[in-house]
Amino acid sequence: MEIIVLPDPATASKRAADYMASRVVAKANSVLGLATGSTPLELYRQLIRAHREEGLDFSKCTTFNLDEYVGLSATHLASYSHYMRVNFFNFINIPQEQIHIPNGMTEDIPAHCASYETAIKQAGGIDIQLLGIGSDGHIGFNEPSSSLASRTRIKTLTERTRSDNARYFESATDIPHHVITMGIGTIMEAREIMLLALGDTKADAVEAMVEGPISAMVPASILQMHPAVKVFIDESAAKKLQRLSYYKYVYNNKPKSQISY
Ligand code: PGA
Repeated sequence: MEIIVLPDPATASKRAADYMASRVVAKANSVLGLATGSTPLELYRQLIRAHREEGLDFSKCTTFNLDEYVGLSATHLASYSHYMRVNFFNFINIPQEQIHIPNGMTEDIPAHCASYETAIKQAGGIDIQLLGIGSDGHIGFNEPSSSLASRTRIKTLTERTRSDNARYFESATDIPHHVITMGIGTIMEAREIMLLALGDTKADAVEAMVEGPISAMVPASILQMHPAVKVFIDESAAKKLQRLSYYKYVYNNKPKSQISY
């Protein structure tokens, strides 16, 4: 894992966006795995800015989102379909048919999940997967105790995640209990992974992911087994890392040829 510690959320988001943009420039038909939540909002704003001001071209990209709530239609204001449109897709030049988000209204969840996996394979696999991390260490909506080999499937949210996400819903009873999420095995097949974590509410999860043992109780810890992971964090999210000064030393002393963003 490459741990990249930046002074504040804006700088961490900008650096992560610059990295993703550099991958799209290097491979115009990149298959991008995308995430939702509050964490990537500034990253998406930066990619939109790069599209407008620098001509960053998404027309050949294909995208696969990590997850969606079961029971919410694509037009529901709290759905991740809606989130992606209003925070990213409406402002870039990606054709609609190249966008994939699990359908929370599908009548046959197992068949839909299997076809989502097939679509990822048919697209050639995910080149770069963007992740956030839950305060409980989840990635996608793979809650603690998820199989580390899991594929896209239905999951039941923990009460902690439901309350973390309550801000998107009018009342607590509106928060779905179930989601469709890419599995941990699905995520681990991405050729490259970039995880963004901001703020001190993520400090425990970041510490457990980077320095703790690999455990299904901290799903993000499996990323220790992936050969190409970049973790972009601000100082607050980094504050519990025991080897913080080492990670900074490594990053600050990289050969210039290794820094492309
Ligand atoms: P957040 O969610 O960005 O809204 O904190 C992250 C996650 O649950 O993966």
